[in-house]
Amino acid sequence: MTVANDSQLVDGVIAGNRRALAKTITLIESSRVDHQARAGDVLGALLPRTGRSIRVGISGVPGVGKSTFIEALGMALIGRGHKVAVLAIDPSSSLTGGSILGDKTRMEKLSQSPDAYIRPSPSSGSLGGVAARTREAMLVCEAAGFDVVIVETVGVGQSETAVAGMTDVFVLLQLPNAGDDLQAIKKGIVELADIVVYNKCDIDETAAGRAMQQMRGALHLLRAASAGWTVPVLKVSALQHAGLDEFWVAIQRYQEAMQATGAWEARRSRQALDWMWALVDQGLRSRFERHAAVRAALPDVRAAVAAGTLPASAAALRLLQAMD
Ligand code: GDP
Repeated sequence: MTVANDSQLVDGVIAGNRRALAKTITLIESSRVDHQARAGDVLGALLPRTGRSIRVGISGVPGVGKSTFIEALGMALIGRGHKVAVLAIDPSSSLTGGSILGDKTRMEKLSQSPDAYIRPSPSSGSLGGVAARTREAMLVCEAAGFDVVIVETVGVGQSETAVAGMTDVFVLLQLPNAGDDLQAIKKGIVELADIVVYNKCDIDETAAGRAMQQMRGALHLLRAASAGWTVPVLKVSALQHAGLDEFWVAIQRYQEAMQATGAWEARRSRQALDWMWALVDQGLRSRFERHAAVRAALPDVRAAVAAGTLPASAAALRLLQAMD
């Protein structure tokens, strides 16, 4: 592709053209060095058009109802004139090849709406790589006019930090079962939450009330993710579309509270800087892996470490020196 085509991509994205949007994200996801350089240029051109959305992270264990919730919420938001993009970070996708959004039957209505754009995780790469690409895809969606970007992840721990690190507000979806709160607390996910939502409250109201009470107690003991904000614990039924308005009111309250103190912009600035360093790390790592002398030394060094004849520290030093 030529430079002219890249400017067509930029113009297409800005015009809200879905093909241009998809092509740009594919370019971003490509691991080819020349593609990465082009993706950088395209992103640079789009950057002035980004930042005007609300970025919502949503996490929860498989089966909690994330796709049902996002579909119901997304359709409700579209009904109010919003444009909704849904992206995913799925650390398991690189292992299984499948993605949490890979199944096309998920979010069926939303995926057919012209005002929605759904994109699964890139299915290969490290969590860091997947997160970086998702973050860039988020910016492309913003440039294309999506004013609500939802980033979904699976509630296993590590990917939550990545999602909380790229969104304005981080939402934890919980099941009203005994013990679900403990799991989330143990994995350190509750600390990241700005809003906790109990889904499937239609099944057993009493159990839901009890779980919510316990969660409020636990949150009381934890340091709030955002200073000056008491994490609300809400209940919904994604299946019956109940509680979605209250949820969106909580999101807006959060936005107003954070904007009033400047914390909203501060969070974005911090995230942009963290991202810069993450990209530096990633770039160094991929240069390292491509370096001829490193590649030549690697098989022997790896074998020696695996066999226990070379300490990992000495091995790392040897490989780094090979790069120098
Ligand atoms: P995900 O794996 O977190 O994306 O979960 P899904 O959205 O695929 O939902 C898992 C199952 O829970 C599906 O069978 C849904 O129909 C069901 N489900 C989702 N939300 C609710 C709800 O609010 N109430 C009830 N009763 N079932 C729900």
